[in-house]
Amino acid sequence: MAPLLSYAEALSLVSESVQSHGRSERISSANGLNRILAEDIASTEPNPRFNNSSVDGYVLGQESDAGPDRLLEISGVCVPGGDPGPPLLPGECRRILTGAPTPPEAFGVVMQEDVTRSGNQITLNGSHLPGQFIRMVGSEFGRGQRILAKGHPINPGTLGLLGSQGIGEIEVFQPVTVAIITTGNEVAGDGLGPYQIRNSNGPMLVGLVESVGAQVVSAVHVLDEPEDLGAAMHKVGSADIVITSGGVSVGDFDYVPSWMRKHGEVIFHGLKVRPGKPLLFGKYAQSWVFGLPGNPASSFVGFQTLVRKAIAQLSGRTNTSLMWTRAAYMDTHLAHGRGEFVRVEISQGQAFPVAEQGSFGLRSLALCTALALLPHDRDVAFGEPVDALILI
Ligand code: AMP
Ligand code: MG
Repeated sequence: MAPLLSYAEALSLVSESVQSHGRSERISSANGLNRILAEDIASTEPNPRFNNSSVDGYVLGQESDAGPDRLLEISGVCVPGGDPGPPLLPGECRRILTGAPTPPEAFGVVMQEDVTRSGNQITLNGSHLPGQFIRMVGSEFGRGQRILAKGHPINPGTLGLLGSQGIGEIEVFQPVTVAIITTGNEVAGDGLGPYQIRNSNGPMLVGLVESVGAQVVSAVHVLDEPEDLGAAMHKVGSADIVITSGGVSVGDFDYVPSWMRKHGEVIFHGLKVRPGKPLLFGKYAQSWVFGLPGNPASSFVGFQTLVRKAIAQLSGRTNTSLMWTRAAYMDTHLAHGRGEFVRVEISQGQAFPVAEQGSFGLRSLALCTALALLPHDRDVAFGEPVDALILI
């Protein structure tokens, strides 16, 4: 193995190497959740569409009617969705409800809490300002403005914005395609022998890929034979990413690195990180290859810290940053020369290690909400702040 890289070095190599795949398609906005815009979106209409009231109250017509103790006649009601009627005459006001259009040239709206009503008349308590409680047409944006940029992720808020504009079709990037190959003679297929284990990395990796909006195009398991690995790699076709799990270290059955050196390109192999030291990143044909170590925690951490970045880069997203937070580490840690990702649960700014932290641990993967990154060269005292990667 060449000199081991730090996590930061590995992350920048991944982000420098991997670019957007650029493939796009036109889809119904209703199916757009978690896709990435492949076009800028311009507004079809201003927001708000028309002047309207932000409160329940009374709409005033003139400045001279806005002073304290003015007595005004209620001449009608402006309701949401209804015509607000003609401009107000002096001495006149109209009852108005939130979201209702204001009459032309209205002076402002007075909250119902700020008037005294008696029958069909109101008296103003205090004086009022021009334009108050009126949401002006186009005050957020006008027609034909760029309201969303290419590379923006379609989150629920984006769906609301598109819905408000009547935009029913959008150009989005196609999902990133991922092929998964798990390896290991000990991992059971149909039957489960006494010293075999079930495949936990397979379903976990499918879930991880899908949870970041990428598409699993195949998921297979192979024995620890270079020919079997080769046959599976050949079948991957044009997947953007191939993830292998297991067989990437220096054991007698670890064929992924030698196979990759012979048939593909190894960009790095080995990280100064625990868990996940033997992780491999490379290229085979059209695909970026991540050789994740077989221990479940190593596969999980390798995906969350590096594969996720590659998927973001391929997806066409503009902002591909992983999300980090700072939290008080609720344990102690002795530096051991490698960075360590600890599976933690974050609560109220505190990071609590969860369950078994050995790389064979499985419950921690189900329970953690973040990965605290502990430094390679410095002890961490109880309660000291550390960086933590927020998980999906
Ligand atoms: P390896 O990286 O192949 O040396 O595997 C490291 C450890 O992870 C071994 O204990 C394997 O049995 C285990 N392992 C490998 N692949 C899987 C898998 N798909 N599911 C669960 N455990 C696995
Ligand atoms: Mg193995």
